[in-house]
Amino acid sequence: MMQIARFLGQDGEILEGVVQGDEVEEISGLDPMLKGGRRVGGKRKLADLQLMPWGTGRKIVAVGKNYLDHAKELASEVPKEPLIFMKPTSGLIGHGQAIVLPPSTVSKEVHHEAELAVVIGKRLRKASEAECVKAIAGVTCLNDVTCRDIQRAEGQWTRAKGFDTFCPVGPWVTVGLDWSDLRVQCRVNGVVKQNGRSKDQIFPLPRLISFICAGMTLEEGDIVSTGTPAGVGPIKAGDVCEIEVDGVGTLRNEVRAE
Ligand code: ZN
Repeated sequence: MMQIARFLGQDGEILEGVVQGDEVEEISGLDPMLKGGRRVGGKRKLADLQLMPWGTGRKIVAVGKNYLDHAKELASEVPKEPLIFMKPTSGLIGHGQAIVLPPSTVSKEVHHEAELAVVIGKRLRKASEAECVKAIAGVTCLNDVTCRDIQRAEGQWTRAKGFDTFCPVGPWVTVGLDWSDLRVQCRVNGVVKQNGRSKDQIFPLPRLISFICAGMTLEEGDIVSTGTPAGVGPIKAGDVCEIEVDGVGTLRNEVRAE
């Protein structure tokens, strides 16, 4: 297993490196499956780096109500087919960057949603489940931040889930991790709010990815997020929101008022 971080270089360029304990060793020339590459030497302290999100410039495809207990808490019917939506890449932020709440005149109810997400490493179009599995480059944590009041009011989810900073991803991507039964947890100010397991997803990843690419080509670098377990709830200014996926790590973001 290997953890690959993206981080900001001295001149504002985005670099990649292998995480080793509290250090990151820069690597160049990784292929889209996050394999290969050449270590270019020079270890940096993780604590000194601004980690950057994955998926910039690509698309983020997500799924609604993919855990039975979460569908129930929304008083929703359990979907018969995956319920797909997209989050804009303009909402991406990395580990350590702030989730910025819109003014209360716009939304009074912003929720966290802890999710396991994967980075796609191969172009997929009308691919079988087996081909889809082979195209998963790595696993990461994603917080599908949502204005619940706007989501309810509008029916369409794009605006509710599409605000700037509403898509924290990170802290890095883990390559070679079995994603089929991982704990997905959200903590707000250290208190556990969501605690699910990926094995309880209604539509597991192979089905989900295959369903998406039956109609929509998935490109290298796209992110697919797999839905959130029960326990979604509000975040407010001053909170610290943490999403942890077993074998990946903890994505931490403070919450700020605009
Ligand atoms: Zn979600």
